[in-house]
Amino acid sequence: MILGVHASVRRGLAVSLEEARALNCDALQILPYPRGHAPDLEELAAFRAARRALGLRLLLVHSRFVPSLASADEARRQRSISHLARELSLCAGLGGDAYVLHAGAYSPDASPEDGVRLFADSARRAALSAGFAGVLLLENVPGGGRRLGGTLEELARLRDALGPGGPPTGFCLDTAHAWAAGYDLSSAEGALRFVARAHRLLGADSVRAFHLNDSRALLGSHREHHWHWGQGRLGLEGLKVLLQREEFFEVPGILETPKEPDADAANLSLVRGLAAL
Ligand SMILES: [Zn+2]
Ligand SMILES: [Zn+2]
Repeated sequence: MILGVHASVRRGLAVSLEEARALNCDALQILPYPRGHAPDLEELAAFRAARRALGLRLLLVHSRFVPSLASADEARRQRSISHLARELSLCAGLGGDAYVLHAGAYSPDASPEDGVRLFADSARRAALSAGFAGVLLLENVPGGGRRLGGTLEELARLRDALGPGGPPTGFCLDTAHAWAAGYDLSSAEGALRFVARAHRLLGADSVRAFHLNDSRALLGSHREHHWHWGQGRLGLEGLKVLLQREEFFEVPGILETPKEPDADAANLSLVRGLAAL
């Protein structure tokens, strides 16, 4: 995998690139804008130039605030569509190689099928209004309740609903979320089963990114508790399988592990070591 971290943009978009440089990352994930700040064209151009100068191979932009794309509440959904269009424009402006998105939850009085349909309609409309020509990556979530995209089957349904009229779509698989949704990635056999299933349901070429996180949550608990590699319940056996699969060599692997001092460097070095074994 092409390894990197999720870096904060809280202190400015450009600061995230400094973090990538310090950690020697080949890939980076950021949110499209710092809270309360709308980057202007000049700032976006400066970011692209700085990224080129750094030689960063892959940039993922993760959705920041699009909570109601699958909601049956039309007013809320329309607001999320506008937010998504804005974020997709920013992703393009930042030179992002892909935009990572959670599908959100369906409404209490609706069905999962309604939610899938509404999400696809929202994503199509936002991409159209933003003139987005990039790649959309649907991320698996811990599942449970009304959240869409907990299972690989549901991810496939979301992609199918987007159809040929939607933006090019692939998937970003988060190991901690998969674990929370009940996929046992703690062993080599479990990880191989997961990969085979992903290939069958999503397509071998459609897995375009990984979020590499250990977890403190219980298997199948639907709880999200990203944790440091080697200190959580996933352990390293399954991770090693993912890192050493040839079909994922050119796919970004982003760490979203907790940001304690020096933790990114330690997690990266552990993951790099396993990839090189
Ligand atoms: Zn995410
Ligand atoms: Zn994630």
